[in-house]
Amino acid sequence: MSLTPRELLAHAAKAVVDERRQLTMDELAELASLPEEHTAALAAVAHEVRLAWCGPMVEVEGILSVKTGGCSEDCSFCSQSSAFESVVQATPLLSIDEVVKAAEETKATGATEFCLVLAIRGPDEKIMKWLLEVTPVIIERTGMQVAVSAGVLNPEQVARLKAAGVHRYNHNLETAKSFFGRIVTTHTWQERFETCQMVRDEGMELCCGVLFGMGENTDQRLELMGQLRDVEPAEIPVNFLNPRPGTPLSERPLVGALEAIKWIALLRLALPTVILRLAGGREVTLRDLQSMGMTSGINALIVGNYLTTLGRSADEDLRMLEDLRMPVGALSAAL
Ligand code: SF4
Repeated sequence: MSLTPRELLAHAAKAVVDERRQLTMDELAELASLPEEHTAALAAVAHEVRLAWCGPMVEVEGILSVKTGGCSEDCSFCSQSSAFESVVQATPLLSIDEVVKAAEETKATGATEFCLVLAIRGPDEKIMKWLLEVTPVIIERTGMQVAVSAGVLNPEQVARLKAAGVHRYNHNLETAKSFFGRIVTTHTWQERFETCQMVRDEGMELCCGVLFGMGENTDQRLELMGQLRDVEPAEIPVNFLNPRPGTPLSERPLVGALEAIKWIALLRLALPTVILRLAGGREVTLRDLQSMGMTSGINALIVGNYLTTLGRSADEDLRMLEDLRMPVGALSAAL
């Protein structure tokens, strides 16, 4: 006998909150098929799950592009690829002084995590040395935890970054394995997956993000959720495509605001303990539903600007968190 939408939502809440068990992929697929009028109720369940498993704390992070543009890879969504005619100009690596200054400014917003992002396939020795030098300086000067996003790594590089104090490494799966080849041809989904596994096996926290809105279907989004479970990230940044001029995805429509809420909620239900961070594309996608995003299972936020697009002001976000009675703090120690 099939359940009504109300029964389905009550069943999900009972399973994840009361019984503390993981939903099956079939249960998640049923929730994904709920009509749009049930999205607010689905979000409410996800919020309850987040409070039960993670508490009310929100982690605020600043990201800094320390090496922008000119990337050798051809990710179709990315304006930093040298394969496309895009507006982002390649810039050299920032100086250590510039990075520390940006870290100190980020710290002033209440952020506890600072992520250095490099538009590269993977780090060469010059970049490795730079990362190993700058990481301890940021930690010492700001007290923030340092995260790095520098593409594909080998095991030795993973170990050296960890030894230098890098707390979390970001490497996104972006999309399902079955869809990835439509988006990127210069490297494989498997290469990304293996870097994620290496990071986790070395004992560094893995931050592994998704990007919705590239033309993937519902089954592929569910497939991605299963693959995220396999890679066991500490954090998932949730990005929505903000189509960039000059890229192959420049004409794709935005994900609708309610649709975005639904997939945030489903991610929380699929991975109850994860740090779920609202990241790129949230302003254009969620528009006036920013605070609903925060009550759909999210417990972390990127403040300030993104890598190639401007975000809304940190003050606005911090006021929103205050209005929602969501305290700001570091989460990895707490979960
Ligand atoms: S997503 Fe990363 S690897 Fe892909 S083109 Fe952009 S900067 Fe390069």
